[in-house]
Amino acid sequence: MRRPGRADMEVGPVTRLCVSLTEACGADMLRAMHGLPRYADIVELRLDYLQEQGAAARSALQSICHSKDRPIIVTCRPAREGGRFEGPEAERLDLLRRAATHGPDYVDVELDSVSALGALPGGTRRIVSYHNFERTPPELEDIYRRVAAAGADVAKLAVRALDILDTPPVLALLERHAASMPTIALSMGEEGLPTRVLAAKYGAFLSYASLAPGKGSADGQVPYEEMEGLYRFSRISRRTSVYGVVANPVAHSMSPAIHNAAFAEVGLDAVYLPFKVTDPAAFLDAYERHDLRGLSVTIPHKEAMVPLMDEVDELTARIGALNTVTVRNGRRYGSNTDVAAALAALEHAARQAGLLPLERRAALLVGAGGAGRAIAYGLAGRVGRLIIANRTVWRGRKLAGEIGAEACGLHDIPALSFDILINTTSVGMHPNTDETPVAASVLRPGMVVFDAVYNPIETRLLCEARQAGCVTASGFEWFVSQAAAQFETWTGMPAPRARMAEVVRERLSLR
Ligand code: NAP
Repeated sequence: MRRPGRADMEVGPVTRLCVSLTEACGADMLRAMHGLPRYADIVELRLDYLQEQGAAARSALQSICHSKDRPIIVTCRPAREGGRFEGPEAERLDLLRRAATHGPDYVDVELDSVSALGALPGGTRRIVSYHNFERTPPELEDIYRRVAAAGADVAKLAVRALDILDTPPVLALLERHAASMPTIALSMGEEGLPTRVLAAKYGAFLSYASLAPGKGSADGQVPYEEMEGLYRFSRISRRTSVYGVVANPVAHSMSPAIHNAAFAEVGLDAVYLPFKVTDPAAFLDAYERHDLRGLSVTIPHKEAMVPLMDEVDELTARIGALNTVTVRNGRRYGSNTDVAAALAALEHAARQAGLLPLERRAALLVGAGGAGRAIAYGLAGRVGRLIIANRTVWRGRKLAGEIGAEACGLHDIPALSFDILINTTSVGMHPNTDETPVAASVLRPGMVVFDAVYNPIETRLLCEARQAGCVTASGFEWFVSQAAAQFETWTGMPAPRARMAEVVRERLSLR
């Protein structure tokens, strides 16, 4: 089933989006199928999730098949292959044979059961599947050949990714075979997400999605609304450029939402993925051949990425940390949009407060972690006086020593005189929104107060600063600005800032 908008950019087989239905009763499965949008091209009925047994299950299946509104795959996965069917094998195969008489488009059968299942009625095709829930075996190609040779109309491999480095062999397998034989190959688990989305880039027969969060039939399945709404699955083709965020952990990153929305807004043929990475060097080597064009880099890889670049900008070299990788003509270019974006937000607020030039001003930076380091390096030499106050005083001293600033403890703050206050601690961040890193009594009218915390958008510190007559700059602005600068670095196009800000606001309100 082709989707609108795909044909003009198609350069390989169309990859279907298959929603796996794991409802406990046939009536709910039917309702779920009829409620799906057209871009969900195909559904998988997981008979092993049905509570109805025997004749009741067959009758449920019959009514689904008779009122189907899109192609159907019937699957009854045994417990040994990660499914829920615990009865005798003969009963399971009998259920599949009888199911096939109702005319589903496909029956999925495991490699070790395919010969026992025997022939299917004409018109019903066979997906022969191999699963490995423990790991990604090195002999993927051999397994694929066995599956394909076992009378498969569609060959399927689903293997567990224990690391992102398990996913390139799965993509390579699709790249080798999907054009000549209908093939499904995917990596299960959080690390495997790129294979589920990039299945469309390599012309997989289908990629599975769940009906809703928590309703997946396999670990790592993404809800269908996210596959299409976030990753624009139906528009991915061989030519689609790949971007992503390299982090560990990565699950809660807002970057996929903000950058995919930006690509969609300007109509760019690109997708942005979360990459849970442990070895950045090996990751870069493996993914560059999959049209990787750019990366956001965050904790804990900002420093480790620097020596992996062919070139870095002056600021990155000085700080020894980057947050942006651009891959162009096979060369890796590292830059740091964090610092420039924070300085721009600060300068904007300082202009409003009439505090320019910064060289005549004293700035108090609270915090000496990752955000504190970035801003400290950016401000060094630009403000007349820079004082770093940190809870762990030696850490603040160390940073101050690196850049020629002063250092003190948090309790020294009330005695200090400064024009600009920057919070880079996590104090005041959700859920501790009633906390603040400095007492309101140190805030004076006309000061600039910048809070790196962006969740919530208005922290207690910013609220009290506003009430005290300060000019404020928020971590929200910083976050959106650094992402917008990444977008511009990668694409050379003006970033759709309003849309990016809107997405972050939406995500924050959901949280
Ligand atoms: P980090 O490296 O873990 O550093 C945390 C900092 O907060 C350290 O200086 C730590 O002091 C201090 N701290 C933590 N709990 C504290 C407490 N109860 N009292 C006083 N100080 C405390 O974290 P990070 O990456 O720098 O992030 C810090 C904040 O900035 C987070 O809220 C993060 O979301 C935000 N951020 C925002 C952006 C943006 O784009 N807006 C970018 C980066 C970070 P010690 O040294 O004593 O532990």
